[in-house]
Amino acid sequence: MVIRDFQSFSTHLDYLKDSVEPETSGQNADYIPTLKNAPSDVFAVAFCSTDGQFYESGQSRQSFSIQSTCKPIMFALALQKMGTDKVLEWCGIEPSGRPFNDTKLMEDKRPFNPMVNSGALMTAALLAAEYPHILENDFPNKEDGAYAKELCDEILLPLWRTLSANGIVGDVGFCRDTFLSERDTADTNIGIAHIMKAQKGLPPNVSTQTMIDFYLRSCSLTSNTATMAVVASTLANGGKNPITGEQIFSVDVVKKTLSVLSFCGFYDNSGEFFFHTGVPSKSGVSGIVFLVLPNVGGFAIFSPRIDKHGNSVRGSLFAKRLMSHFTFHSYDSL
Ligand code: GLN
Repeated sequence: MVIRDFQSFSTHLDYLKDSVEPETSGQNADYIPTLKNAPSDVFAVAFCSTDGQFYESGQSRQSFSIQSTCKPIMFALALQKMGTDKVLEWCGIEPSGRPFNDTKLMEDKRPFNPMVNSGALMTAALLAAEYPHILENDFPNKEDGAYAKELCDEILLPLWRTLSANGIVGDVGFCRDTFLSERDTADTNIGIAHIMKAQKGLPPNVSTQTMIDFYLRSCSLTSNTATMAVVASTLANGGKNPITGEQIFSVDVVKKTLSVLSFCGFYDNSGEFFFHTGVPSKSGVSGIVFLVLPNVGGFAIFSPRIDKHGNSVRGSLFAKRLMSHFTFHSYDSL
């Protein structure tokens, strides 16, 4: 969609951002140093329309780890690569109503959905099972950590680069410090992986170590607010990057991914968040939030202080004010 009078739209976004800036409640995630020591006052907003119109404000080029915003992309890739039935055989699509790192599984032993850690770990395992060919014939014997690294370098990073318009707006990278501390503090994720292995088992030839390492590497990819707006806009545009024109995911895959984001993207705050915003969205504990406005564009908001659910306080507030100011809510057309 081309937004008419983009200048006045941008002025409104400036105004909304200014109105949210004084909100300083919440705290940085503190379980690893790179998140704990990130400057808490940073506040950035970016928007990319499905036609490539672009707005950015604040420290929108500052890098951060993408954390749980990796989850919908892993899920979309799994759907595209394996088909819906095979993915759903291993992972549910039900809101959990529970914290993102909860250990509980569904009655049928599948994780609730791919947007909580258990489901994302399972998606990582499914992808690991799906890509043995990159291992030059020694799968599954290659040392686990090396396999996860290869999956991240050969599959995920290039995918994120295409989603991010190949560096035209900003680039994606990998933060080794984040990954190493994630791994040092991964007891809950390790626990979840072992519970899943004990309950339903894992996809063929995938170890818990590969599953965990691949997931944590995905969380440790880096991006910035401007770039994340392009990623969100690619989803808003049915999988076609609005800047490069490349069709990255099929419309069907995006439709399914966005459906899950609508009711699972904000963990145990998903219902309340959708009630107010009415659009698919995803957050990460680094303080990033993205919103997908189908056929309109993608927003990204970054501010590191998070609430008790793990969602950026300013990101959530900006999203709610945005949606009450404009008519982007799914049901505003009524
Ligand atoms: N790396 C974090 C974890 O696995 C990501 C969590 C999040 O962004 N909610 O616990």
